[in-house]
Amino acid sequence: MASCCAPRPVSSLRQIEQCPVSGATGRRVDVQTVKALLTASALRRLRLVDHRFCPDPRCHVVYFGADGTTYARNDLRVPVWQKEPFGDRMVCYCFGESERGIRTELEASGHSAAVARIREHIAAGRCACELRNPQGRCCLGDVTAAVTRVTQAIDHAVRSGS
Ligand SMILES: [Zn+2]
Repeated sequence: MASCCAPRPVSSLRQIEQCPVSGATGRRVDVQTVKALLTASALRRLRLVDHRFCPDPRCHVVYFGADGTTYARNDLRVPVWQKEPFGDRMVCYCFGESERGIRTELEASGHSAAVARIREHIAAGRCACELRNPQGRCCLGDVTAAVTRVTQAIDHAVRSGS
């Protein structure tokens, strides 16, 4: 059945694995994720080609397509934490776990339950990372790393007496 929402993908284009701006190797992201996260005006430029996520924090490009199209931070509906400064970044887009929230927990009790909370949501089938997380994949690893980063930042602040 022909559907306006399922046209044939443009498959003749060569693979572009490196961000055209930073040169960083991008990980493939499902086009469904790209469509869900782009603003209305950015989505009007989209073509059905392979898209990749630029992981370089200094690069303003979030997605680049095999057709050479790039989408910058402000082309997305949400801030992309990899491209924002450390401290108050949202690292779990489904359940709103942020560096600030993790820090508050750590300072109050010495422990953050963010990872345990997310595991519980995953077990209950509540995650929608393929549509909410700009990387289109589970955020559990990112949240685990965020807890480590915030813990280290607090330890560092304690050691340097600030
Ligand atoms: Zn880039």
